[in-house]
Amino acid sequence: MQDRFYFGTNTKMFKTAAETVDYLHRLEELTRGIPPERAQRFVIPSYTSLGPARAELDRAGSGILLGAQNMGWEERGQYTGEISPLMLREAGARLVMVGHSERRHTFRETDAEEEKKVRCALDHGFRVLLCVGEQLEDRRYGTGDEVLRVQLKIGLHQVRPEEADRVWVAYEPVWAIGVNGIPADEGYAGEKHRMLRGTMVELFGEAGSRVPLLYGGSVNPENAVALSRCKEIDGLFIGRSAWDAERFADIMRAVL
Ligand code: PEP
Repeated sequence: MQDRFYFGTNTKMFKTAAETVDYLHRLEELTRGIPPERAQRFVIPSYTSLGPARAELDRAGSGILLGAQNMGWEERGQYTGEISPLMLREAGARLVMVGHSERRHTFRETDAEEEKKVRCALDHGFRVLLCVGEQLEDRRYGTGDEVLRVQLKIGLHQVRPEEADRVWVAYEPVWAIGVNGIPADEGYAGEKHRMLRGTMVELFGEAGSRVPLLYGGSVNPENAVALSRCKEIDGLFIGRSAWDAERFADIMRAVL
């Protein structure tokens, strides 16, 4: 368990730039009093929200870290529809999320592509949030640990131990995410986090023991505290239950 607890949200394709600015304004107002040494807050909005969000966070002197939902692995080129690290940096992102379950499963991204994105994001000075998660059939066949280890080992293959302090990992079982998701209980999540921690130490030695491991998948005001009390869980990565600033702030207050 880290000294600081991590609270983040990915707003997916839901909030416009104007809505994101309102949301950040309110979230900052509600959570400003939380000492930064106790909580790292982060928000990952749509690409078009990044510039206005950066301006709002800078204006408010906020410690909320701003992230991007994805990134192409080249600086520029003939990649219609992609966004480059230079563009994300210019727009104000400081963190790049890689391998969210919707990227892996709806858009068929591969582990090898996540590997290139992780390397490119680190080369451009970003922190990286690598998402990993097994599917329902892996639970049935007992192949979840293998899948998670492969996602970590390939995704982080080109990361050097001295760079591990810029890597965060979100464990998000695919069956737990979204409107039809069933949240993992703290026992199951704790067991998977222990295995992930072991893999991080295997990959990075001592530095792997400090990489924040966040849980995501139907976190809500009812289960957030129990999950946060699990000593293997360093933070919560929340979708729907964090898209209302009041609700997200209530979760933070309840956990801290
Ligand atoms: C997610 O999509 O990463 C997520 C955690 O969503 P939710 O909390 O809504 O299940």
